[in-house]
Amino acid sequence: MSRPATPSAPRRRTRQIRLGSPPGPSVAVGGDAPVSVQSMTTTKTADVEGTLSQVYALAAAGADIVRCTCNEAEAAEGLAHIVPRSPVPVVADIHFHHEMALAALEAGVHGLRLNPGNLRKADEIRLVASEARDRAVPIRIGVNAGSLHPELYKRFGGATPEALVESARIELALFEEVGFEDVKISVKASSVPLMIEAYRLASETFDHPLHLGVTEAGPPPAGLVKGTAGIATLLAEGIGDTIRYSLTADPVEEARAGRQLLEALGLRERKGLDLIACPSCGRAEIDVIGVAKAAQSALENRNLPIQVAVMGCVVNGPGEARQADLGIAAGRRKGHLFIKGKIVRVVPEDDMVTALVEEAERLVAEGIEARLAAADVGAEAEAEADRRALLEAKGEDVNHAGDKVELIRRTVAGHGDGQAAPVQ
Ligand code: SF4
Repeated sequence: MSRPATPSAPRRRTRQIRLGSPPGPSVAVGGDAPVSVQSMTTTKTADVEGTLSQVYALAAAGADIVRCTCNEAEAAEGLAHIVPRSPVPVVADIHFHHEMALAALEAGVHGLRLNPGNLRKADEIRLVASEARDRAVPIRIGVNAGSLHPELYKRFGGATPEALVESARIELALFEEVGFEDVKISVKASSVPLMIEAYRLASETFDHPLHLGVTEAGPPPAGLVKGTAGIATLLAEGIGDTIRYSLTADPVEEARAGRQLLEALGLRERKGLDLIACPSCGRAEIDVIGVAKAAQSALENRNLPIQVAVMGCVVNGPGEARQADLGIAAGRRKGHLFIKGKIVRVVPEDDMVTALVEEAERLVAEGIEARLAAADVGAEAEAEADRRALLEAKGEDVNHAGDKVELIRRTVAGHGDGQAAPVQ
């Protein structure tokens, strides 16, 4: 229901590629396609059922594309069973062995990722590109600062932005020799400033879609902060066509974070809950953190595409969160339920979360106007009375303002020019 404003920079236009084709899963990347979310399975790819169950979990959490490692023959055989049952396009991740790329193509994958840092023989790269071309399977040139080709490392004096982009350019030139252009590019690094500079340079150098990521970002919350710092900075500049968080965590967290970031930036329609909550302060009438957590866990798996606010007090809460579709604010042991800032119901404090969940479901089913029209008579007046009572209760004059004002007036009156003398 709520749709945030979009970032100011216009999106940089890239050529478009497509992973998969209807009637199977199919996702366009680049051009005017929505920015997509990717993640990677952590199971052994040979474990077909285990991998598929993770693929489904990732898709449910927001992944549009899922990558699986293809590091051995058993993994390629697993892909042959996984691909036809996957709800989203499957990309095979290839390092060191070009035969694994050929095997993954035989398995029917929708995309390949090649690491030019460890797949270095030109004839092998051309062979893989020719096979991919004949099957219309896109390849990501996945440059990684940590596994940069040693010659480039030496030539550029380290894993510089120029070195990362040059690695992609060399690989792209080999692809072009065999007439293959179905390519997306990534130039990842674990250093956020390096990654940002590398992608900026890549966006000036190539018109191919860019896959954004901060590699080896580590466990949350630091990993999430690093990933967001790099990916969001570039997206806000209009750079990036598909993203992946690389977290040392359940990959479902990567997919969820990717989706949430795109929704927060207004780059994707809201699909799930957006729970906002005030940071709490001395006015709070409830344990905001506890109630927000309870609301989050009660609402998050219900797939309600709305913004819900949990606010610590009725004095400021409904006003501060008036953009939220639905919210609850606490006051005088009651919960004040509001829709778009208008109070619609007042419930006992212990029923706040239950009432919030009930109203959220009705709001999604019936719409905002219908639920505003169904507001309890007298709810607004009751909330206003609670608000006033709280304002008076909290408005104790701890600064003795009345005495001070009197003192100021006497001081000013004692000096006819209106210049106050110092108070003794
Ligand atoms: S809504 Fe109330 S409790 Fe929460 S931060 Fe604002 S003033 Fe403080």
